[in-house]
Amino acid sequence: SVPASIASSLSAGARRGLLLKGGAVIEAAARVNLVTFDKTGTLTVGRPVVTDVWSPEGDEKAVLALATGVEAGSSHPLAEAVLAHAEGQGIAFEAGRDARAIPGRGVEAQLGGEIVFVGSPRYAEERGAMTPDAKARIEALEAEGKTVAAVFRANALSGVIALRDEPREDAAAAMHDLRELGVRSVMLTGDNARTAEAIAGSLSMEYRAELLPDDKVSAIRELTAGHTVMMIGDGINDAPALATADVGVAMGSGTDVALESADGALLRNRVGDVAGLLRLARATMANIR
Ligand code: ADP
Ligand code: MG
Repeated sequence: SVPASIASSLSAGARRGLLLKGGAVIEAAARVNLVTFDKTGTLTVGRPVVTDVWSPEGDEKAVLALATGVEAGSSHPLAEAVLAHAEGQGIAFEAGRDARAIPGRGVEAQLGGEIVFVGSPRYAEERGAMTPDAKARIEALEAEGKTVAAVFRANALSGVIALRDEPREDAAAAMHDLRELGVRSVMLTGDNARTAEAIAGSLSMEYRAELLPDDKVSAIRELTAGHTVMMIGDGINDAPALATADVGVAMGSGTDVALESADGALLRNRVGDVAGLLRLARATMANIR
């Protein structure tokens, strides 16, 4: 019978760490023809490392100390990377006070009697703290697929820090598999367009960049108008995006997967399992018909 074959597919999937919350989800997953991915931690390893520090005055240590003081009050993956790098370099720093996250843009804190910011170059530009010299350097770093954080005070740029988050080992093969299934893959990211283009290009996939958290939801809503869309994310920061897609799937290792806002999960934390999930859903529906 129909329910029995769905039940056996669900349990066969579960044995491979592919979870779907029931028959209606399998049915929708079988129709998916476009998959959107969060970039950080989903397509990439999610552990950025500092690669370059630049100061217009030639004082890289001061830039790092200032940035570390601000990032000490942030839990963003970029903040952890800056702190780890400063520690490795033995940088002494003063921790800022009243740190505040500016979603999709960066973080600010009180440091030495003024507000210091660490955030996207776009945000530095909005705040009037960008220089033509810095802009040229930033664009070159971004074209290498690096994410750049600008360190600045009111109207004055102190320096820039570039970070690199490597694509997952299996990401390029995973995108190839999806293409074979006739499925479009689109990266969604808050990062700038140049960085996104470099990473998406290396994975032969499409991208939408410079998205604020609400923009990710709008992008998915727009794509669902012409496609059946599956969204893959970590389930924590991406809860609204997962809920907006036709099928929202959380990816992570076992217990830290947030399933509440998702229709399914990939427990082995492999981006290659997305194609496996679609094949399972398609095969299940083909059996029924
Ligand atoms: P993503 O969608 O790629 O996870 P986020 O929305 O988390 O990106 O952040 C968008 C951009 O804002 C980052 O690429 C970075 O430039 C900037 N940003 C956000 N938080 C921080 C931080 N704590 N330190 C430095 N830059 C930050
Ligand atoms: Mg993020």
